Amino acid sequence: ARRKYVVGNWKMNGLTEALGEAGAIFAAARGHAAVDVALCPPFTLIGAMAALPEGGTVGGQDCHVQASGAFTGSVSAPMLADAGARLVIVGHSERREGYGESDGDVKAKAEAALAAGLSVILCVGEPRKVRESGDAIDYVLAQVRQSLPDGFDRSRLAIAYEPIWAIGTGLVPTIEDVAAMHGSIRAALTERIGAGAADLRLLYGGSVNGENAAELLGAGDVDGALVGGASLTAAKFLPIVEAAA
Ligand code: 13P
Repeated sequence: ARRKYVVGNWKMNGLTEALGEAGAIFAAARGHAAVDVALCPPFTLIGAMAALPEGGTVGGQDCHVQASGAFTGSVSAPMLADAGARLVIVGHSERREGYGESDGDVKAKAEAALAAGLSVILCVGEPRKVRESGDAIDYVLAQVRQSLPDGFDRSRLAIAYEPIWAIGTGLVPTIEDVAAMHGSIRAALTERIGAGAADLRLLYGGSVNGENAAELLGAGDVDGALVGGASLTAAKFLPIVEAAA
């Protein structure tokens, strides 16, 4: 059975003073042994968050494809691992849209992260126009096909479905639409890698909060949540963890 996985993506939020929230989240998460909890803060907080006495799983939000070199401003997967990160998010829509990352770029980042020993959360999701035109499933399956690494350890790769129009908007797809998308992703993965696709965790992301988490986490083939805004404080994030437990 797939363990539930609830991951906070802090995006470009968090100064040192926010480590108290992370500590409170990690401390409470220990009480939910059936749920894997992780936080992905900005690069600047990874080392300190990974060293918190409460102990907790910490990840990055992006990595460079190369391990080192003349890439001003970038951080590599081995650097994340060295700082104490255990995972990294790749292909978030804010990277795909804001920094022009292609499926090929995302695939290369996922491969670099896996090679560095990190786990990966690979994000996919359709823009509003595609949802409205009825082509969301085809669009997302193409993203999965083109950004999935060629070979990978199933225990170290999760896919997050994050409809772009649901991110930070308070809008969420219907439970039926979430289940249909996750079921389609699972079927495509089964075609690609065989029965082992049943081990991969599929997360939903986009306006998840304490009120809607139980319903979203109960949808077919939803194994967890990737949470933005509601992951910044223990008060908002812990109800989501509890909904997964
Ligand atoms: P919100 O939870 O703020 O909608 O963000 C979702 C997201 O993009 C997580 O990666």
